[in-house]
Amino acid sequence: MSKKNLLGMTTEELKNFVQGLGEKPFRGKQLFKWVNRGVTDFEEMTDFSKALRAKLSTAAYVGSLEILNVQKDTKDGTRKFLFGLEDGNAIESVFMQYKYGNSLCVSSQVGCKMGCRFCATALDGFTRNLTAGEMLEQIYAAERETGKEINHIVVMGMGEPFDNYENLSKFLRLLHDPEGRNMSYRNMTVSTSGIIPAIEKFAIDFPQVNLAISLHRLDDAGRSAIMPVNDAYPVDDLLAAAGRYTEKTGRRITFEYTLIKGENDNNRDVEIMKDKLSGMLCHVNLIPLNKVDETGFDGSTRKRAEEIADRLTKAGVPATVRRELGSAIDGACGQLRAKNKSIY
Ligand code: SAH
Ligand code: SF4
Repeated sequence: MSKKNLLGMTTEELKNFVQGLGEKPFRGKQLFKWVNRGVTDFEEMTDFSKALRAKLSTAAYVGSLEILNVQKDTKDGTRKFLFGLEDGNAIESVFMQYKYGNSLCVSSQVGCKMGCRFCATALDGFTRNLTAGEMLEQIYAAERETGKEINHIVVMGMGEPFDNYENLSKFLRLLHDPEGRNMSYRNMTVSTSGIIPAIEKFAIDFPQVNLAISLHRLDDAGRSAIMPVNDAYPVDDLLAAAGRYTEKTGRRITFEYTLIKGENDNNRDVEIMKDKLSGMLCHVNLIPLNKVDETGFDGSTRKRAEEIADRLTKAGVPATVRRELGSAIDGACGQLRAKNKSIY
């Protein structure tokens, strides 16, 4: 019999599991607490008898990611992890320190199907979805390694989270579960390239989780040229869906706009942004592109980014330039692909 991975299971699932071992359901609740405290060794689960610990370790294990590599930016404390999954695939997560606490940029898939032209993750195509447990474990593994508590997460690592909606939902619910980690939904942000039906569903399922939409360009021809997803979900439909989202949830939406030199940072682009975004309950996050050699694109200068932020804000569209964390280690989200691929 193969051992069962307890990480990523709900309290109910764990209760059923322990009952299958002839134990009382409340043991499942206890297990849920331990697992979501990041404990992987049954020997540390001190409210279990020795016999029960032995029984559990015969039937189950708590999945953990292997740390293949850590890059540290000594200036700002950012760390980029390369994690090994059980099947030999690798994913990345980025740990960032802010004034308000520590944040982890979490991956949702191995690779991505969306094929954005500027993105490092897109280069290798799509391999598979991550499970809820594999998303959770990025947090627990990063905490074990840094010794610091993570109080915010952004699902902005490798992959399109809305292309893995079910596992993403389970992950967010597990992380929020008061019996486990109890992270507030308001401390979670999910970023999508703009899959409209999932945005509609997310507004109903998770009205308190922050939503970010990657726009990057606001005319259809231009956006389709860098983001193929635009062919299925064109700009104006996407903005209309964003409007319905803010209406339904009452929450401000974040629009991400990665600035690519000469591509989407022209005055004309800024005019379209002003035109289409004014009046929306939104915030524009301008991010100069991190150069990915294979794509042939380069980032706008910081000065140009500041200029655009200023022009948008003056026109009533609040915009800021994202602080570039971990720039010394290619650590910013969206540039998640190991340069040291040989260690995969
Ligand atoms: N797939 C989701 C979430 C992961 S990507 C999405 O696209 O929104 C997270 C963010 O990083 C997106 O806004 C994405 O467009 C951006 N990004 C991708 N490659 C980048 C790069 N090289 N430099 C800066 N941002 C990048
Ligand atoms: Fe996928 Fe996001 Fe990269 Fe586009 S930017 S390829 S959606 S991870």
